[in-house]
Formats: sequence, structure tokens, C-alpha cells
Amino acid sequence: MTTGRSLVYLSDIPIEEVKGMRGARGRSLRNGGVQSVADLLLHTPRRYIDRSTTTKIADAPVGPEVTIVGKVTGTRTRRPRRNLTIVDATVMDESGIVTATWFNQGFRSRQLADGAEVALSGKLERFKGRLQMKSPAADVLSSPSEALTTGRVVPIHPSIGEVGPGHLRRAVHNALTRSRPVLDPLPEPIRERHDLASRDQAIADIHFPETMGDALVARRRLVFDEFFRIEVALAMAKHRKGVEAVGVAHTTPPAVGARFLAGLPYALTAAQERAIAAIRADMAQAHPMQRLLQGEVGSGKTVVAVAALLMAVDHGGQAAVMAPTEVLATQHYLGITELLEDADLAPPTVGEGAALGMDSLFSSESSSGVTVALLTGSQAKCNAAPGASRADLLGWIADGTIDLVIGTHALIQEGVEFHALTAAVVDEQHRFGVHQRVSLKEKAGDVEPDLLIMTATPIPRTLSMTLYGDLDVTVLDELPPGRSPIETVAVSRSEENAAWDLVRSAVAEGRQAFVVCPLVEESDKVEAASAVDEHARLQELMPDLRFGLIHGQLRPDDKADAMHALRSGEVDVLVATTVIEVGIDIPNATVMVIEDADRFGLSQLHQLRGRVGRGAHAGTCVLLTDPTTEDGATRIEAMVRTTDGFELAEVDLSIRGQGTVFDARQSGMGDLRLGDILRDTAELVAARDEAFALVGADPRLDAHDDIRDEVQLLLGEEVEWLFKS
Ligand code: ADP
Ligand code: MG
Repeated sequence: MTTGRSLVYLSDIPIEEVKGMRGARGRSLRNGGVQSVADLLLHTPRRYIDRSTTTKIADAPVGPEVTIVGKVTGTRTRRPRRNLTIVDATVMDESGIVTATWFNQGFRSRQLADGAEVALSGKLERFKGRLQMKSPAADVLSSPSEALTTGRVVPIHPSIGEVGPGHLRRAVHNALTRSRPVLDPLPEPIRERHDLASRDQAIADIHFPETMGDALVARRRLVFDEFFRIEVALAMAKHRKGVEAVGVAHTTPPAVGARFLAGLPYALTAAQERAIAAIRADMAQAHPMQRLLQGEVGSGKTVVAVAALLMAVDHGGQAAVMAPTEVLATQHYLGITELLEDADLAPPTVGEGAALGMDSLFSSESSSGVTVALLTGSQAKCNAAPGASRADLLGWIADGTIDLVIGTHALIQEGVEFHALTAAVVDEQHRFGVHQRVSLKEKAGDVEPDLLIMTATPIPRTLSMTLYGDLDVTVLDELPPGRSPIETVAVSRSEENAAWDLVRSAVAEGRQAFVVCPLVEESDKVEAASAVDEHARLQELMPDLRFGLIHGQLRPDDKADAMHALRSGEVDVLVATTVIEVGIDIPNATVMVIEDADRFGLSQLHQLRGRVGRGAHAGTCVLLTDPTTEDGATRIEAMVRTTDGFELAEVDLSIRGQGTVFDARQSGMGDLRLGDILRDTAELVAARDEAFALVGADPRLDAHDDIRDEVQLLLGEEVEWLFKS
């Protein structure tokens, strides 16, 4: 361990202490979130100008992008007419001279003082024998009055408000000289194992590297630090919840659970067996389960989830399923009650007029069946009492009459009181972060329920290591037998008849089809309208087929009717919006046509495609599209190439970038400034291993208070709850 000033210490030194940062500039930095010396030191350059690789003016080729470095020998501002300001600057190096011209960028005349050294990046043109550049990027490397930047590599820091790279460079330089040596909180052995630069060297070199190589070495260390902090927080969270929190030891032998599994019309896959065994072992522990169940679309997560829920029921507790949308909650309700019926676990029902009350209703012991309630914003249902009102259900949930509650997150998190909630399944489509998971605890009182989180689509390993890094992970890496792979083809709009021919021949063979209408960004309403139109158009085009329609604007009952009509075979083709994205299970459907498929996200396409080919017959997915963007074309190409959800998830991540995946607010990943989970996977894995080992040996980091303080400082409110005693 080195000595020096810690980031925590430096975060206490106000930015105004830095030379030149009193007054307006300091205020600008504060507004931009840079409040302390530590913040400034972590404000790293956006890029560098490497003098050793810039081109001499005389050698610079005309045409391609080049960077030249020289001194400003004069600027001129012209206003040939209203609304047009032209700034010309002449820049000279030892070999030649260039005139740079900017239009309506009046600030250039202030930026480019005579004698300043600047880097210009852009295309050189030759005009009447003279070299010129139009609107090049221009960075001031050193002002005429001082020669701070003697190194070959000049950092370009991102501007903060009014404060540009030049001032920032000087401020950082000043802050650095007064802050070094910077303390390294990372134990020496970790540094050595991963060949990491010291923190002090890294912070100095990221700002003022001697060579570009030094900058890369520095970056690697700081990237490691970012991942390490996140992983330490996750490791501590995991330890807290897994080891310190009090849960329910579900030790009652799974009698109902066994009946349920025995009643299934198929044998479990080996992956399902493994998952259920792991979950049962977790749930038998006195500490709350924190497990993520990942699996390919159609891998059979529902059965695994139900097995987990029934552990609670067998133990005399209650269980909840939380889904992200009403449609999905409804699907879960239908699917789960159906599975229970098949296994002869449906409770005896009581008729209308719910004056019955729990005595008459449920006196015959809960072992006679599993009572399930559906509670969403617009629906309240119970498999034991068709006539029950919402108030009835709330009462029965509170007194423990209801075994299983299925609903949307909002409902379960806010309105509902449980008698004894001991297990929960959260179906989350990676929408929810550490925060929301915590709030379940409040719901359950003194003990924390066992928690199983399901993602509807596979997520890349790097993402699950960060977003879900505090969870144990189970992957269902096997599809039930007998599935034929789905064939996917892209068909141009101009050849749409090929798609409809496929639909026709599927129907002729007794199969069914989905047509998913173009995604309409503006609103549910517009999207619904387009589905209505498409439904009419297709019905006219194929009058011999029976069409159904489902979209988000339908009342829940009408949606259920539409699904029922498809399930029972009354319609051949269901025209739909993305409301059918998740959870819909119609084994007889073999063709899916997705219109304007390039407008959908990859995981959405993958989800949609997973709706067909779920039974014994092979499925076909037609992407009816003429991609208009490069990303759209990449998505279509990936869909045609592979059905591997994990591979698609990687492609998706690389198209979208981690920024869109990490909503800083919800995931605690706001600390990633340099690190990129795709590019820096090796550092992520190393940081994760080291963080978990460190926290494993010292769960509260008593022997590493520098690390603990830094995690708390830099991850802020996201992890505050971790440090409450
Ligand atoms: P997902 O993982 O996408 O949620 P589901 O749980 O909806 O998958 O299951 C998809 C389909 O596979 C359902 O029709 C379900 O009944 C069926 N299924 C699940 N497990 C098996 C199995 N072991 N053998 C055969 N079919 C199965
Ligand atoms: Mg499912």
C-alpha cells in the first residue's frame, strides 16, 4: 500500500482551490458536476493530439483527413452580409502555411490568439496554389504566454460549460502537482496479478502522458478501478443479502411441488432439473435467495418459477409473481393456473356472490389446491372465486387465504399487504435495478422473501456481471426436445406476397400465424390504428382466411377474447402489435410475419420470433422489411443468421452501446466513464474476481477502509444502503 492523498481526501478540496478556478470558471465547473479536486482529476481527456504523429504542412496530402500542428500567425473576421461571419486564421509550421476558415463560428477569433499553438484536423484543399482547410476541428495546445505542454502528447479535455480544454488542462496540471502522490487503495498483490499501473501514475498519465502507450496503460488501470468499485459494491450487496439478511428457510418437503412436477405432461429437461434443484437448495437456506434465472426464449422458465413458488406454498407461506406489464401478468396468471389445473392442483371454486368469505370458501384446507390471484391496474381475479371483487382479494391476500399473487410490479410494491410473503419471482426484462429489488424487503416485514429474478431474454455475460452481479445465476441452456429450429428469412416489401403465401400454406396444413404490425413510435393509439388498417387490408387480400386482431388499446377482456380465439382455433391469423411480444404460448402457430422488422430492437425481434415453432411443427419467421438504417440492416442480418439469444444479445449491446443499457439511475453503473463492458471485458472479469475475493475475506472491508470509502464516495446514493449498519 502506498501513501498519498486519497480520492476521498481530494473530494473534500473545493474546486475553487485550484489555480484560476475561483469565480466564474469555478461556478461553471460546479454546474457541470466538477465540485472538487477529485472530480477534476477524474475528468479525463476525451482524446489526445500526438505531436509525433501529426503531419508537417508541406507533407500533408490533399484530400484525406489530416492533423497538423502549428502556430497561429493571424486571424481575420469578416461579415460579408448579415447572418454570416467568416473567421480566417493562418497557421504555420516550419514547413508551410495553411489558411483555416470557419463560417458563423465567431468564437474562433477569440480561441485562436496570435502565437497560440493549435492542432487543426480536417481535409486540406489547394486553392490558387494555397493550402486551406474549411471548418477544421481546432484544439489549442498552448497559449502564447505559457509553454505548459512541452510533452509530445497533448490532452484534450471535454469542455465543461464555458471552460474549454486549454483552461482545463492548466487546472488539471495545477491540481495534479498539488495532489500527488495520489494514494493507491488497491492491495499490491492485485496490482501485480493484473499488471496494473499505480493509481498515482495512472492519474498523472491519463492527463499528461509522455506517449500514447502511457495513456493506454493509465486508462487500463482507471478502467479496472471503475469496474472494481462497482463489483465491490455488488459483492458487498450480495454478502449482505445472502449472508447477513434473515430469510425464510423453506425446509418443508415439497409435497405440492412434487405433485405439480409429476402432473406435467412432459419430462423436465436436464437444465430445468438443475435449476429447480439449485433453487430448492437456496430456498432451504435461512438466508434469502438472490438468484437470476436466465434462459433462451422457450427454454421453459415458467415451470421452474412455479416450482420455486410452490416451495413457499408448501411451507405455509405466500408467493408473488411480478411482471413488467399487464399483458404479461395476465399471461402468467393464465399459464400458471392452467399448469395447476393440469396437475390437479386447482382449488375448488365457489360461485358468484362473494359473501362467502374465507370460512366457507377455504375451510377445506389449502392442501386441496393452490389459490391464485391476479391483480393488475384493471383486473382482479382469483382461480377459486370467479365472482370475487378486488376488495375481497386484498382481504384474502392479507389473511393468507391466497397462496399466489400475480401482478404488475407497481401493485405488489405499493398497494398490497401480505400475510406471509416468503418467495417472489420477478420477471423483469432487465428493467429493474438493485434499488427496486431492495424494496421487496419492506413488503415482507422482518424477513426477506426468497427472490428469483427472471429475464425474458438472454443477456450477455458482461451485462449480467454488472447489472445482476450481486445475484447467483442459473442458465437454462437447453431447449425442450422436439423443437425444430425456426427458419428466418428477410423479404423485401415489394415481394410481400411470398410472405402471405407462406401464411396461406401454413393455414392449409392446419397451422396458425401471427402478423406483427409496424412499430409506431408516436403512440399506442397510432400503433393500434395501423394494426386495425392492416387487419382490414389483409382480410381483403386473403378473404378465405379467418383473421383476429389484438392491440394495446383493447380492453383486457377483449384482448383475452382475441387470444382465446386464436388458442381455440377460431381464427387462423392473429394481426397484432407488440402486445404479443412476451409470454404468449400458442404451440400451433408456426408462421410469424413481422412487418418493417428493421424498426424493432433485437431482443424484441427475438422475443417475437420465440412465439412460433413452440410445438411439434417447425416455425418460420418472415422479416418483411427494407432496412433504412445501418443498424436496422445489422439487426435483420443477425436475426437471419442466428437463433442464439445470447449471441443476439451481444450484437444488440454492440449496436446500442452500454450507455443505453445502463440507466445510471437504476443500475448503479453511473460510475463508468472510461470503462466499456464490451471492449474492456478482460478488466471487468479481473475486477469482478478480485472484488468478490476481497469482500469474501473481509465482508465489510474493515481492513480496506480506503476502498470502502471510495466506493461509497463514487457510487454515491446508489449504494448508500449498503453502508447503513
Ligand atoms: P420461457 O422460458 O420462454 O418462459 P416457457 O416457460 O413459456 O418458456 O415454456 C415454453 C413452452 O415450452 C411452453 O409451451 C411449455 O409448456 C413448454 N415446456 C416447458 N418445459 C418443457 C419440457 N421440459 N418439455 C417440453 N415442453 C416444455
Ligand atoms: Mg415465459
